[in-house]
Amino acid sequence: MTFPTVLPVRIALEWLVRLGMAMVERTGVTDYFYADEKCTRCGTCEKVCSSRKVCVTGEGPVWQDRVKCYFCYACLNYCPTQAVQIKSKWYMKSYTKWNGRYPHPWATVKDLAGQQDRANPGTPAAG
Ligand code: SF4
Ligand code: SF4
Repeated sequence: MTFPTVLPVRIALEWLVRLGMAMVERTGVTDYFYADEKCTRCGTCEKVCSSRKVCVTGEGPVWQDRVKCYFCYACLNYCPTQAVQIKSKWYMKSYTKWNGRYPHPWATVKDLAGQQDRANPGTPAAG
């Protein structure tokens, strides 16, 4: 399928995508990720989250309400124990319990943590 070449259709579709993303960002993407029993509270998911949505507490990671998610999936792919999962919904089955993880081969946790500062310079750095 090719992207529509008729200008009004393209503009309408682009705005629909933008609207969808804005809504998702505003609501902060709640109830999407979770950490299972394999979590060791190492803090990696918090370090690699460029939007600072993830905060690791004594109970484990929390994907904070009202904080944007950039859908980079770094929290999921960089977790060393593959503890981060996506919840299954009635309309979408998640296979993260069985599928592997695919971090970028050249991007380290340190690299991503460095980008976190640039993405949100006003927010205190993660501990
Ligand atoms: S990276 Fe994985 S193991 Fe570490 S705190 Fe996050 S969910 Fe837990
Ligand atoms: S997908 Fe990316 S931006 Fe969203 S919570 Fe995970 S690391 Fe943060």
